[in-house]
Amino acid sequence: RLELRDLVCRFDGMPVVDGLSLELMPGQVTCLLGPSGCGKSTTLRMAAGVEHVTSGEIRIDGQLVAGPGVHLPPEKRAIGMMFQDFALFPHLTAEANVAFGAGSGSEARVRDLLARVGLADKARKYPHQLSGGEQQRVALARALAPRPRVMLMDEPFSGLDNRLRDGIRDDTLEILKEEGTAVLLVTHEPDEAMRMADQIALMRRGRIVQQGAPYNIYNNPVDSEAAGFFSDIN
Ligand code: ATP
Ligand code: MG
Repeated sequence: RLELRDLVCRFDGMPVVDGLSLELMPGQVTCLLGPSGCGKSTTLRMAAGVEHVTSGEIRIDGQLVAGPGVHLPPEKRAIGMMFQDFALFPHLTAEANVAFGAGSGSEARVRDLLARVGLADKARKYPHQLSGGEQQRVALARALAPRPRVMLMDEPFSGLDNRLRDGIRDDTLEILKEEGTAVLLVTHEPDEAMRMADQIALMRRGRIVQQGAPYNIYNNPVDSEAAGFFSDIN
């Protein structure tokens, strides 16, 4: 469970995230949608611990990980990350990349994860011997290896072609649900949000302006920008 409370992030005095509150439950996917520059990636970076909060609080399964005088580094938060440009280690096999995330004594976990992402037979391949989609599956297995309670995903599928993307996002969703991970997913694709989200949060200028089940937002958008965003869904 991830709780963001009254989060503020200022750069040179300018608020980029400006009083954002959001709660994610285990096994639920929350899609964060909003125009370029509204603060989506900054929000994920604060949750991950790679950006400091200016004020407000972040809790993971009840534990304060960021707040007044508190800042746990990424490796001490029970989080996994999948970003578009979050590359695999090129000198390590698929198996070794996943094992790196899992820590020592976790061979069974590594095998299980590679099987679940459909790559049991590619465990000994290096990243350059795998397709973009296969690399993304390894990245998912690696992110899941330490059993994170929260998965932070910033447009993880945007580098993939349409045909590949559908399969990977459905599989990713299924595995994250099985693991009971709370997921915060940034996407520019309304279709992806409608398919994947239990909850959609619309963001403008550093704040959440509307939040709810996908069909509630689709049927009752808060403003014309939100309505326009969903109008291209077929
Ligand atoms: P996009 O959809 O284009 O990815 P975003 O919603 O993810 O946009 P952010 O990356 O969170 O937007 O950036 C929000 C604003 O904060 C932008 O105006 C950006 O230039 C600014 N910003 C982000 N990081 C920094 C930083 N380290 N220093 C100064 N300004 C920053
Ligand atoms: Mg971004």
